[in-house]
Amino acid sequence: MAGTKFAYVRNFELPDSVIPSVYLVVRIDGKGFHKFSASHSFLKPNDPAALELMNESARYVMASLKGHISLAFGESDEYSFLLRKSTTLYNRRNSKITTHIVSLFTSAYVFNWNRFFPDTPLKMPPSFDGRMVVYPNEQVVRDYFSWRQADTHINNLYNTTFWALVLQGGLTEQEATKRLEGTVSAEKHEILHEQFGINYDRLEAMFRKGTTLVWTHAQAQTIGGGIDAEEDDASDAEQAKPVLTNAKDEKLRIKIQAKRAAKQAKKQEKKERKNLTGVLRTLHCDIIGDEFWTPAASEAVSTAAPASVPASALTSATSSRWESSIGDSEKTATEATVADGGMTSSRPWKDPARLQVAGLGTSVFLD
Ligand SMILES: [Mg+2]
Repeated sequence: MAGTKFAYVRNFELPDSVIPSVYLVVRIDGKGFHKFSASHSFLKPNDPAALELMNESARYVMASLKGHISLAFGESDEYSFLLRKSTTLYNRRNSKITTHIVSLFTSAYVFNWNRFFPDTPLKMPPSFDGRMVVYPNEQVVRDYFSWRQADTHINNLYNTTFWALVLQGGLTEQEATKRLEGTVSAEKHEILHEQFGINYDRLEAMFRKGTTLVWTHAQAQTIGGGIDAEEDDASDAEQAKPVLTNAKDEKLRIKIQAKRAAKQAKKQEKKERKNLTGVLRTLHCDIIGDEFWTPAASEAVSTAAPASVPASALTSATSSRWESSIGDSEKTATEATVADGGMTSSRPWKDPARLQVAGLGTSVFLD
Protein backbone atom coordinates (compact mmCIF):
# COMPACT_ATOMS: atom_id res chain seq x y z
CA MET A 1 0.00 0.00 0.00
CA ALA A 2 2.58 2.46 1.18
CA GLY A 3 4.67 1.83 -1.93
CA THR A 4 1.98 2.61 -4.50
CA LYS A 5 2.39 5.56 -6.81
CA PHE A 6 -0.59 7.16 -5.11
CA ALA A 7 0.91 7.18 -1.63
CA TYR A 8 2.49 10.60 -2.15
CA VAL A 9 -0.92 12.20 -1.55
CA ARG A 10 -0.38 11.63 2.14
CA ASN A 11 2.14 14.45 2.02
CA PHE A 12 -0.74 16.86 1.52
CA GLU A 13 -2.02 16.09 5.01
CA LEU A 14 -0.58 18.69 7.32
CA PRO A 15 0.18 17.96 10.97
CA ASP A 16 -2.11 19.87 13.31
CA SER A 17 -1.02 18.73 16.75
CA VAL A 18 -1.26 21.39 19.43
CA ILE A 19 1.88 22.15 21.45
CA PRO A 20 2.21 20.45 24.84
CA SER A 21 1.41 22.00 28.24
CA VAL A 22 -1.28 24.41 27.12
CA TYR A 23 -5.01 24.32 27.77
CA LEU A 24 -7.31 23.50 24.90
CA VAL A 25 -10.85 24.77 24.71
CA VAL A 26 -13.28 23.37 22.18
CA ARG A 27 -16.40 25.46 21.70
CA ILE A 28 -19.30 23.97 19.82
CA ASP A 29 -22.14 26.09 18.51
CA GLY A 30 -25.56 25.26 17.09
CA LYS A 31 -25.81 25.84 13.36
CA GLY A 32 -28.95 27.67 12.28
CA PHE A 33 -30.54 27.29 15.70
CA HIS A 34 -32.75 30.30 15.18
CA LYS A 35 -34.68 28.30 12.63
CA PHE A 36 -34.27 25.05 14.55
CA SER A 37 -35.68 26.47 17.78
CA ALA A 38 -38.57 28.16 15.96
CA SER A 39 -39.59 25.01 14.13
CA HIS A 40 -39.63 23.06 17.42
CA SER A 41 -41.45 25.84 19.26
CA PHE A 42 -38.81 26.37 21.93
CA LEU A 43 -40.18 28.49 24.76
CA LYS A 44 -39.12 32.14 24.89
CA PRO A 45 -36.96 33.61 26.24
CA ASN A 46 -35.56 30.30 27.57
CA ASP A 47 -36.67 26.74 27.07
CA PRO A 48 -35.46 24.71 30.05
CA ALA A 49 -36.00 21.40 28.24
CA ALA A 50 -33.82 22.58 25.36
CA LEU A 51 -31.14 23.74 27.78
CA GLU A 52 -31.29 20.46 29.71
CA LEU A 53 -30.89 18.56 26.44
CA MET A 54 -27.76 20.63 25.74
CA ASN A 55 -26.54 19.85 29.27
CA GLU A 56 -27.20 16.14 28.88
CA SER A 57 -25.33 16.09 25.56
CA ALA A 58 -22.39 17.87 27.20
CA ARG A 59 -22.43 15.40 30.10
CA TYR A 60 -22.19 12.61 27.54
CA VAL A 61 -19.14 14.27 25.97
CA MET A 62 -17.50 14.63 29.38
CA ALA A 63 -18.26 11.06 30.38
CA SER A 64 -16.95 9.74 27.06
CA LEU A 65 -13.74 11.72 27.41
CA LYS A 66 -13.33 11.33 31.15
CA GLY A 67 -9.83 12.22 32.24
CA HIS A 68 -9.33 14.53 29.27
CA ILE A 69 -11.98 17.21 29.83
CA SER A 70 -12.12 18.79 33.27
CA LEU A 71 -14.73 21.53 32.83
CA ALA A 72 -17.48 22.61 30.47
CA PHE A 73 -19.67 25.67 30.29
CA GLY A 74 -22.86 25.99 28.28
CA GLU A 75 -25.42 28.65 27.42
CA SER A 76 -28.05 28.89 24.73
CA ASP A 77 -26.91 26.71 21.80
CA GLU A 78 -23.21 26.66 22.65
CA TYR A 79 -20.90 24.67 24.91
CA SER A 80 -17.21 25.09 25.73
CA PHE A 81 -15.07 22.16 26.84
CA LEU A 82 -11.78 22.63 28.68
CA LEU A 83 -9.21 19.91 28.03
CA ARG A 84 -6.39 19.29 30.47
CA LYS A 85 -3.05 20.63 29.45
CA SER A 86 -1.54 17.18 29.80
CA THR A 87 -4.10 15.48 27.60
CA THR A 88 -2.67 13.16 24.97
CA LEU A 89 -6.04 12.58 23.31
CA TYR A 90 -5.48 11.92 19.57
CA ASN A 91 -1.89 13.05 20.08
CA ARG A 92 -3.39 16.50 20.66
CA ARG A 93 -4.47 16.78 17.03
CA ASN A 94 -6.76 19.78 16.67
CA SER A 95 -9.03 18.43 13.93
CA LYS A 96 -9.44 14.99 15.49
CA ILE A 97 -10.30 16.33 18.95
CA THR A 98 -12.66 19.03 17.68
CA THR A 99 -14.55 16.82 15.27
CA HIS A 100 -14.83 14.02 17.80
CA ILE A 101 -16.36 16.35 20.40
CA VAL A 102 -18.77 17.86 17.88
CA SER A 103 -19.79 14.39 16.76
CA LEU A 104 -20.29 13.04 20.31
CA PHE A 105 -22.33 16.09 21.23
CA THR A 106 -24.53 16.06 18.16
CA SER A 107 -25.30 12.37 18.29
CA ALA A 108 -26.13 12.63 22.02
CA TYR A 109 -28.43 15.57 21.24
CA VAL A 110 -30.37 13.53 18.70
CA PHE A 111 -30.24 10.34 20.77
CA ASN A 112 -31.76 12.06 23.82
CA TRP A 113 -34.25 14.28 21.99
CA ASN A 114 -37.30 12.14 22.86
CA ARG A 115 -36.51 12.13 26.56
CA PHE A 116 -36.59 15.91 26.70
CA PHE A 117 -39.24 16.55 24.05
CA PRO A 118 -41.55 13.53 24.30
CA ASP A 119 -44.38 15.35 22.53
CA THR A 120 -42.36 17.07 19.83
CA PRO A 121 -40.98 14.96 16.99
CA LEU A 122 -37.58 15.99 15.68
CA LYS A 123 -38.32 17.74 12.41
CA MET A 124 -34.82 18.26 11.07
CA PRO A 125 -31.33 17.03 11.90
CA PRO A 126 -29.63 19.53 14.22
CA SER A 127 -25.98 20.29 13.60
CA PHE A 128 -23.16 21.99 15.46
CA ASP A 129 -19.85 23.45 14.39
CA GLY A 130 -16.75 23.54 16.54
CA ARG A 131 -13.46 25.31 16.95
CA MET A 132 -10.44 24.82 19.15
CA VAL A 133 -8.60 27.65 20.85
CA VAL A 134 -5.36 27.22 22.77
CA TYR A 135 -4.84 29.09 26.03
CA PRO A 136 -1.43 29.36 27.68
CA ASN A 137 -2.26 29.63 31.38
CA GLU A 138 -4.90 29.44 34.09
CA GLN A 139 -5.61 33.17 34.10
CA VAL A 140 -6.50 33.25 30.42
CA VAL A 141 -8.63 30.14 30.82
CA ARG A 142 -10.54 31.81 33.66
CA ASP A 143 -10.93 34.95 31.57
CA TYR A 144 -12.26 32.85 28.72
CA PHE A 145 -14.98 31.30 30.88
CA SER A 146 -15.72 34.70 32.45
CA TRP A 147 -16.21 36.06 28.94
CA ARG A 148 -18.70 33.33 28.10
CA GLN A 149 -20.62 33.79 31.35
CA ALA A 150 -20.73 37.58 30.93
CA ASP A 151 -22.13 36.90 27.47
CA THR A 152 -24.79 34.64 29.00
CA HIS A 153 -25.85 37.45 31.30
CA ILE A 154 -25.95 40.14 28.60
CA ASN A 155 -27.95 37.95 26.20
CA ASN A 156 -30.32 36.70 28.85
CA LEU A 157 -31.09 40.14 30.23
CA TYR A 158 -31.77 41.38 26.71
CA ASN A 159 -33.89 38.37 25.72
CA THR A 160 -35.86 38.38 28.96
CA THR A 161 -36.71 42.06 28.54
CA PHE A 162 -37.38 41.68 24.83
CA TRP A 163 -39.83 38.79 25.29
CA ALA A 164 -41.51 40.45 28.25
CA LEU A 165 -42.22 43.44 26.01
CA VAL A 166 -43.55 41.16 23.28
CA LEU A 167 -45.40 38.45 25.22
CA GLN A 168 -46.67 40.48 28.14
CA GLY A 169 -46.39 44.05 26.87
CA GLY A 170 -48.05 43.37 23.54
CA LEU A 171 -45.31 44.99 21.46
CA THR A 172 -44.36 43.58 18.09
CA GLU A 173 -40.83 42.17 17.78
CA GLN A 174 -39.84 45.24 15.76
CA GLU A 175 -41.26 47.59 18.38
CA ALA A 176 -39.48 45.70 21.16
CA THR A 177 -36.18 45.89 19.27
CA LYS A 178 -36.65 49.63 18.88
CA ARG A 179 -37.63 50.06 22.53
CA LEU A 180 -34.42 48.36 23.68
CA GLU A 181 -32.12 50.12 21.25
CA GLY A 182 -29.30 51.83 23.14
CA THR A 183 -30.57 50.82 26.59
CA VAL A 184 -28.02 49.95 29.26
CA SER A 185 -28.50 47.06 31.64
CA ALA A 186 -29.96 49.21 34.46
CA GLU A 187 -32.72 50.37 32.12
CA LYS A 188 -33.61 46.79 31.20
CA HIS A 189 -33.78 45.86 34.88
CA GLU A 190 -36.07 48.83 35.36
CA ILE A 191 -38.38 47.90 32.47
CA LEU A 192 -38.67 44.37 33.86
CA HIS A 193 -39.37 45.54 37.36
CA GLU A 194 -41.56 48.60 36.74
CA GLN A 195 -43.56 47.32 33.79
CA PHE A 196 -43.78 43.61 34.49
CA GLY A 197 -42.97 43.17 38.18
CA ILE A 198 -40.07 40.88 37.37
CA ASN A 199 -37.03 40.82 39.64
CA TYR A 200 -34.35 39.68 37.21
CA ASP A 201 -32.06 38.37 39.95
CA ARG A 202 -34.72 35.91 41.02
CA LEU A 203 -35.11 34.25 37.64
CA GLU A 204 -33.74 30.73 37.17
CA ALA A 205 -30.00 30.50 37.86
CA MET A 206 -29.64 28.26 34.80
CA PHE A 207 -30.88 31.11 32.60
CA ARG A 208 -28.77 33.80 34.25
CA LYS A 209 -25.56 31.86 34.92
CA GLY A 210 -25.56 29.18 32.25
CA THR A 211 -24.49 25.64 33.14
CA THR A 212 -21.09 24.58 34.39
CA LEU A 213 -20.08 20.93 34.40
CA VAL A 214 -17.08 19.89 36.43
CA TRP A 215 -15.50 16.63 37.51
CA THR A 216 -15.03 16.66 41.21
CA HIS A 217 -14.28 14.53 44.24
CA ALA A 218 -15.97 11.21 44.62
CA GLN A 219 -15.12 11.16 48.32
CA ALA A 220 -12.87 14.04 49.17
CA GLN A 221 -12.28 12.71 52.68
CA THR A 222 -10.45 9.66 51.35
CA ILE A 223 -7.71 11.80 49.89
CA GLY A 224 -4.50 11.62 51.94
CA GLY A 225 -4.35 10.62 55.62
CA GLY A 226 -5.89 7.40 56.85
CA ILE A 227 -4.22 4.03 56.89
CA ASP A 228 -1.78 4.87 54.10
CA ALA A 229 -0.32 7.72 56.12
CA GLU A 230 0.21 5.43 59.12
CA GLU A 231 1.99 2.94 56.92
CA ASP A 232 4.25 5.71 55.66
CA ASP A 233 5.15 6.71 59.21
CA ALA A 234 6.02 3.14 60.06
CA SER A 235 8.24 2.70 57.05
CA ASP A 236 10.00 6.02 57.76
CA ALA A 237 10.90 4.87 61.25
CA GLU A 238 12.00 1.53 59.91
CA GLN A 239 14.23 3.19 57.35
CA ALA A 240 15.97 5.33 59.96
CA LYS A 241 17.81 2.50 61.77
CA PRO A 242 20.10 0.17 59.81
CA VAL A 243 18.84 -3.38 59.43
CA LEU A 244 21.74 -5.05 57.72
CA THR A 245 25.28 -5.02 59.12
CA ASN A 246 26.97 -5.12 55.73
CA ALA A 247 27.12 -1.50 54.54
CA LYS A 248 26.79 -2.45 50.88
CA ASP A 249 23.74 -4.60 51.52
CA GLU A 250 22.25 -1.91 53.72
CA LYS A 251 22.70 0.67 50.93
CA LEU A 252 20.98 -1.66 48.50
CA ARG A 253 18.17 -2.28 50.96
CA ILE A 254 17.57 1.46 51.37
CA LYS A 255 17.59 1.88 47.61
CA ILE A 256 15.00 -0.86 47.15
CA GLN A 257 12.91 0.60 49.93
CA ALA A 258 13.02 4.08 48.36
CA LYS A 259 11.95 2.60 45.05
CA ARG A 260 9.08 0.82 46.72
CA ALA A 261 8.04 4.05 48.47
CA ALA A 262 8.12 5.93 45.18
CA LYS A 263 5.96 3.27 43.58
CA GLN A 264 3.57 3.47 46.50
CA ALA A 265 3.40 7.27 46.20
CA LYS A 266 2.62 6.99 42.51
CA LYS A 267 -0.13 4.51 43.24
CA GLN A 268 -1.52 6.84 45.87
CA GLU A 269 -1.42 9.78 43.46
CA LYS A 270 -3.31 7.77 40.88
CA LYS A 271 -5.88 6.87 43.50
CA GLU A 272 -6.26 10.49 44.52
CA ARG A 273 -6.65 11.61 40.92
CA LYS A 274 -9.31 9.00 40.39
CA ASN A 275 -11.16 10.35 43.43
CA LEU A 276 -10.74 13.91 42.27
CA THR A 277 -12.42 13.17 38.99
CA GLY A 278 -15.05 10.86 40.35
CA VAL A 279 -18.31 12.77 40.16
CA LEU A 280 -19.62 14.94 37.37
CA ARG A 281 -21.35 17.95 38.89
CA THR A 282 -23.90 20.10 37.08
CA LEU A 283 -23.95 23.67 38.38
CA HIS A 284 -25.63 26.99 37.72
CA CYS A 285 -23.27 29.28 39.56
CA ASP A 286 -21.02 32.28 39.21
CA ILE A 287 -17.68 31.32 37.68
CA ILE A 288 -16.36 34.86 37.26
CA GLY A 289 -15.52 35.43 40.93
CA ASP A 290 -12.97 33.49 42.99
CA GLU A 291 -15.35 31.28 44.96
CA PHE A 292 -15.75 28.62 42.33
CA TRP A 293 -12.03 28.48 41.51
CA THR A 294 -10.66 28.39 45.03
CA PRO A 295 -9.82 24.88 46.16
CA ALA A 296 -11.62 23.79 49.30
CA ALA A 297 -9.43 22.56 52.16
CA SER A 298 -10.41 18.90 52.20
CA GLU A 299 -14.11 19.16 52.73
CA ALA A 300 -16.22 16.41 51.37
CA VAL A 301 -18.78 17.36 48.81
CA SER A 302 -22.02 16.72 50.62
CA THR A 303 -24.45 15.97 47.86
CA ALA A 304 -23.52 14.98 44.37
CA ALA A 305 -25.86 15.71 41.54
CA PRO A 306 -26.55 12.70 39.35
CA ALA A 307 -24.39 12.60 36.23
CA SER A 308 -27.48 12.01 34.22
CA VAL A 309 -31.03 13.20 34.65
CA PRO A 310 -33.45 10.30 35.22
CA ALA A 311 -35.64 9.90 32.17
CA SER A 312 -38.77 9.36 34.26
CA ALA A 313 -38.36 12.72 35.98
CA LEU A 314 -37.98 14.45 32.67
CA THR A 315 -40.93 12.80 31.02
CA SER A 316 -43.31 13.96 33.72
CA ALA A 317 -41.86 17.43 33.56
CA THR A 318 -41.84 17.75 29.82
CA SER A 319 -45.47 16.71 29.50
CA SER A 320 -46.29 20.21 30.67
CA ARG A 321 -43.39 21.53 28.57
CA TRP A 322 -41.79 22.95 31.70
CA GLU A 323 -43.84 26.09 31.47
CA SER A 324 -41.33 28.81 32.01
CA SER A 325 -43.21 31.90 31.01
CA ILE A 326 -41.56 34.91 32.55
CA GLY A 327 -44.53 35.57 34.79
CA ASP A 328 -44.41 32.42 36.87
CA SER A 329 -40.64 32.03 37.05
CA GLU A 330 -40.47 33.85 40.34
CA LYS A 331 -43.32 31.85 41.76
CA THR A 332 -41.77 28.51 40.85
CA ALA A 333 -38.38 29.64 42.14
CA THR A 334 -39.96 30.39 45.50
CA GLU A 335 -41.78 27.07 45.49
CA ALA A 336 -38.58 25.24 44.70
CA THR A 337 -36.94 26.37 47.90
CA VAL A 338 -39.58 24.60 49.94
CA ALA A 339 -40.29 21.86 47.44
CA ASP A 340 -39.87 18.17 48.07
CA GLY A 341 -37.60 15.90 46.06
CA GLY A 342 -40.25 15.29 43.41
CA MET A 343 -40.57 18.93 42.58
CA THR A 344 -36.86 19.51 42.33
CA SER A 345 -36.12 16.31 40.43
CA SER A 346 -38.79 17.04 37.83
CA ARG A 347 -37.10 20.39 37.35
CA PRO A 348 -33.47 19.36 37.71
CA TRP A 349 -32.17 22.90 37.21
CA LYS A 350 -33.80 23.82 40.54
CA ASP A 351 -31.90 21.13 42.45
CA PRO A 352 -30.13 22.89 45.34
CA ALA A 353 -27.06 20.69 44.73
CA ARG A 354 -26.60 22.55 41.47
CA LEU A 355 -26.13 25.81 43.32
CA GLN A 356 -23.41 24.72 45.77
CA VAL A 357 -20.14 25.92 44.38
CA ALA A 358 -17.55 26.66 47.02
CA GLY A 359 -14.15 25.17 46.40
CA LEU A 360 -14.87 23.24 43.25
CA GLY A 361 -12.01 24.86 41.36
CA THR A 362 -9.69 22.37 42.97
CA SER A 363 -10.64 19.87 40.31
CA VAL A 364 -10.41 22.12 37.33
CA PHE A 365 -6.72 22.73 36.86
CA LEU A 366 -5.32 19.25 37.15
CA ASP A 367 -2.50 18.60 34.72
MG1 LIG B 1 -25.54 29.28 17.20
